[in-house]
Amino acid sequence: MPRKSKAGAQSTIGSNPERNRSHNRRVVLDVVRQLGPVGRMEISRHAHLSTQAVSNIVEELVEDGLLIKAGRLRAGRGLPPIQFAVNPNGGMTAGIEIAADHVSTLLVDIGGRVRAQRTLPIQRNDPGAVLPVIRAEIELAQAQLKPPVPQLLGVGVVMPGPFNVEGMTSVGPTTLSGWLDFDAVAGIGRILDAPITLENDATAAAVGERLHGAAKDLKNFCLIFFGQGLGLGIMIDGRPYRGANGNAGEIGHVLVEKGGRRCSCGQHGCLEAYASIHALTERLAAAGIHGVDYPGLEQLHRDRHPVVEAWIKEAAAYLAPQIAMLENLFDPEAIVIGGALPPGLLENLTQAMQPLPLSVARRRNRSEARLIHGRTGRLTAALGAAALPLLDAMTPRLDTAQAAQREQPNEEITFAG
Ligand SMILES: [Zn+2]
Repeated sequence: MPRKSKAGAQSTIGSNPERNRSHNRRVVLDVVRQLGPVGRMEISRHAHLSTQAVSNIVEELVEDGLLIKAGRLRAGRGLPPIQFAVNPNGGMTAGIEIAADHVSTLLVDIGGRVRAQRTLPIQRNDPGAVLPVIRAEIELAQAQLKPPVPQLLGVGVVMPGPFNVEGMTSVGPTTLSGWLDFDAVAGIGRILDAPITLENDATAAAVGERLHGAAKDLKNFCLIFFGQGLGLGIMIDGRPYRGANGNAGEIGHVLVEKGGRRCSCGQHGCLEAYASIHALTERLAAAGIHGVDYPGLEQLHRDRHPVVEAWIKEAAAYLAPQIAMLENLFDPEAIVIGGALPPGLLENLTQAMQPLPLSVARRRNRSEARLIHGRTGRLTAALGAAALPLLDAMTPRLDTAQAAQREQPNEEITFAG
């Protein structure tokens, strides 16, 4: 298969014409979704496709109900061009977050609106237990919608990384058990009969921030993501950076204290052993407060509980130098911080990090903050997951097997109910 020579050269991806066609459809859809209502000429410019190709694809997408004609733009002489917009009822994507203790499911239409959401606590998080849950949750979410239910264009699945690292304990409170040698894309694809995009939670959250959140205007940013552990999403020139094995951004397992506190990965002194929700709940457990959930954390923070206050101080002290390190490494427009930490707690944590250590981010003409808040809440990762099948159009991976999984033409996608 010919390698893509440079980013944006969509026409050279793969030798399979069907895959190209399907890919180009998604590119056009994504351009309209981002710019809409928009005419064929402008689509062609942004999609790097010929106007003839765009005309054909647009016609198909209108027939399939994914695009609608949005009138004509009055400009200049002659017949003004027809404008196209996405049809919010034309299709939707599902976002699934598989976390250690819950599965969250969102249905988001192609206009970006959340149409249904569900969260189910789980006792076991191995593939055998989780796969049937995913299928049932998507069906239950679809059942919440008034008919006609938009077609399912793809499913984004996120789970905490890292994936397949030899010697790193993958069974721990912050990761999932039994997924090490399990082909998640194929396994989930089989039960859902839809194209699957798999991503680690932090990268998916960065995609979500870029498409709908705090990073809408940022092309280069890093997202510090609080799941149970601590992850990092890296966005370079508007594309998520995944690394060679999808494991880029495992900032949680960066050593910050030699011989320090034990981490769930088996090392001592990882950043995650200090700056994570898991670290906070462990401190609370040591103080006799067990099984704290999200609302419980919000309450303890409002009550200014001393364990929470002490954690903020400690986590900020370990996290602040890492912010400066990321700035020095990536020179981002900003660092976004978000995830499953309650907003008030996140606010206090970022305050406690000030003043941030010196880095290349300190510029005389700087107008924006170095550290900005992203989305928070328990659904952040699932929102990012739902955005994955759409962003994928713009950032195809070169992995043949995964590409073949994803690049089934949309019209063949049916949900096996
Ligand atoms: Zn670790």
